[in-house]
Amino acid sequence: MENSKQMRTWLDDLGLDHPLVIAGPCSAETEDQVLKIAHELKDTDVNYFRAGIWKPRTRPGNFEGVGALGLKWLQKVKEETGLKTATEVANRAHVELALEHDIDLLWIGARSTVSPFIVQEIADALQGTDQIVLVKNPVNPDLSLWLGAVERLSTANIKKLGVIHRGFSTYEKSKYRNIPEWQLPIELQTKFPDLPIINDPSHITGNRDMIFDVSQTALDLNFDGLIIETHYDPDNAWSDAAQQVTPRVLIQIMKDLQIRKESNEEAEYKNQLSNLRAQIDIIDSQLIDALGKRMKISDGIGTLKKQKNVAVLQSNRWNQILGAMILEGESKGLSEEFVLRLFKAIHQESINHQEKIING
Ligand code: PEP
Ligand code: MN
Repeated sequence: MENSKQMRTWLDDLGLDHPLVIAGPCSAETEDQVLKIAHELKDTDVNYFRAGIWKPRTRPGNFEGVGALGLKWLQKVKEETGLKTATEVANRAHVELALEHDIDLLWIGARSTVSPFIVQEIADALQGTDQIVLVKNPVNPDLSLWLGAVERLSTANIKKLGVIHRGFSTYEKSKYRNIPEWQLPIELQTKFPDLPIINDPSHITGNRDMIFDVSQTALDLNFDGLIIETHYDPDNAWSDAAQQVTPRVLIQIMKDLQIRKESNEEAEYKNQLSNLRAQIDIIDSQLIDALGKRMKISDGIGTLKKQKNVAVLQSNRWNQILGAMILEGESKGLSEEFVLRLFKAIHQESINHQEKIING
């Protein structure tokens, strides 16, 4: 997909003419369910069939996976459909069982990546094998922790490595289940351009209607592939029902996604431009989000001033803000004139908000 990646990796060796696609249900539920989905994904652009066998659930009492039994179903998927198989491992026993059952690709889940003990145990169990291992980002936005896990595997001589970006949990409500914080995978790609990076729009969005847009953003940012949860009856899935798509929808998504893979100069230019534009779109929406939050706080100040009967405009405070922002702007290469204009506009909007509350 991209010429910025110079070294050949296990992914190049697959020789795909499109981004890598891993698809299949969140969880293996029954043998029939697994095989039915796999057969619907056969002869499509899907390369690996995923299914969770051991499910890390936030709270006990939910479906925690069928366990080792499901590995036999994955073997059957491979025999019957030719699809390669993928599952999550979270300890030494999982690794040993997955290897015994010829699973082609293993991933480390977000709740495991946070734990250096667990990652080390998995790395030790994999030492000396030729496995493909993908490391999901940790649940918290910590690039070092993510890279630390990759490093432990690399130190255990695992050569076929990659990462999965599945978003980060937050206390604040958002339209995402796990906010993408795109700057983290962008920084990771900048530091390690040859490490394959896969996007997981299912766990980022938590919502099947948003899968396409997040996938397109990922491709615009030069991600190497997608992992998308797929179920023939999403609403009745035993886990992550809201985010799974049917095989038919997945096939449509794969068809509609714009994939920029040509390497002539014109295509290279367009590719770079769309990568940069995708980064700008992300930052613009963060700007609007931050401004919205700032005005909510202004509303709170308006309420407070109303209670105490205090004037909206406090010149001292305003001059302090301006001075500080001009200095901070300078350090980021922003002109004084621009910072002044920007903050006057923000201040005016904030006054409007407060006026509305005081007089409302
Ligand atoms: C999964 O892929 O089903 C899963 C449990 O994901 P995560 O580790 O990203 O939560
Ligand atoms: Mn899931």
